[in-house]
Amino acid sequence: MTRILSIKDTPGGRIIEGLVPAKCIVGFHKVRIKVVNSKMVESECSCGSTLCPHAVKLYLFYMTHVKRNENSVKR
Ligand SMILES: [Zn+2]
Repeated sequence: MTRILSIKDTPGGRIIEGLVPAKCIVGFHKVRIKVVNSKMVESECSCGSTLCPHAVKLYLFYMTHVKRNENSVKR
């Protein structure tokens, strides 16, 4: 299960840190992504690649869970 550890708003965008399950290894990848205007502009992952499937997974998780909640708060 993907988990979000922290969300930080910075002048350059929103930084989201989370854990994404690794496919073949037991454990998680630590992923950090930067989101500007609901778009992922940067990513960092413990697997060593940028814009890897783990980053995409965290981004999609953020969009479906966090963004949706934010929109429902704003009336
Ligand atoms: Zn990765």
